[in-house]
Amino acid sequence: MLNIVLFGPPGAGKGTQAEFLIESYGLIHLSTGDLLRSEMSAGTKLGLEAKSFMDKGELVPDEIVIGMIKSKLDTVKEAKGFIFDGFPRTVDQAMALDELLNNNGTPISGMLSLEVEKQELINRLVSRGKISGRADDQDEAIIENRINVYNQKTLPLIEYYKPQGKYFGINGMGSIAEIAGRLKEVIGKIE
Ligand code: ADP
Repeated sequence: MLNIVLFGPPGAGKGTQAEFLIESYGLIHLSTGDLLRSEMSAGTKLGLEAKSFMDKGELVPDEIVIGMIKSKLDTVKEAKGFIFDGFPRTVDQAMALDELLNNNGTPISGMLSLEVEKQELINRLVSRGKISGRADDQDEAIIENRINVYNQKTLPLIEYYKPQGKYFGINGMGSIAEIAGRLKEVIGKIE
């Protein structure tokens, strides 16, 4: 199994690169952001609860996202592996994910971290906001908050995966194809 944590700040290009990885390696894409947005548009209780955090650019509580990932993993019977996109975002989420995967004997293979300068992130999110209609991409103060939350709560995950030899930093500046090439090179080493 190839289990990849696709890591990086909001706007780093995780979703875009995940599409390429699914095709190239036949992996299953698990994006907590996408899962939460589909709960929101279905108007479920979970979706409504999540919306109040997402609209402010805050993290949705750990127990909600961990529960969501657990039930998704339970429904998949056979897989070549998973791409976790936007998850884990806290150390508690990473520990919970390890526990879920270790129970199946299929640990994380590597954390691929897309590294992008802050101004470039803001530019990308503002332009995505013009077409996506996502409330959290429309407002620069919310975008700033998401980047701050990332720096405070999510970035420390690098120190969680590094001692396990699973952290791989990848330059996330450049064309989509260039970045895909860099990801492929790293996956070649961990596969
Ligand atoms: P981006 O990476 O551009 O911020 P996502 O779609 O990954 O976009 O996430 C959008 C929002 O969904 C986040 O700002 C957060 O509120 C919520 N969210 C997504 N994944 C998680 C997670 N693993 N833990 C907590 N909140 C999450």
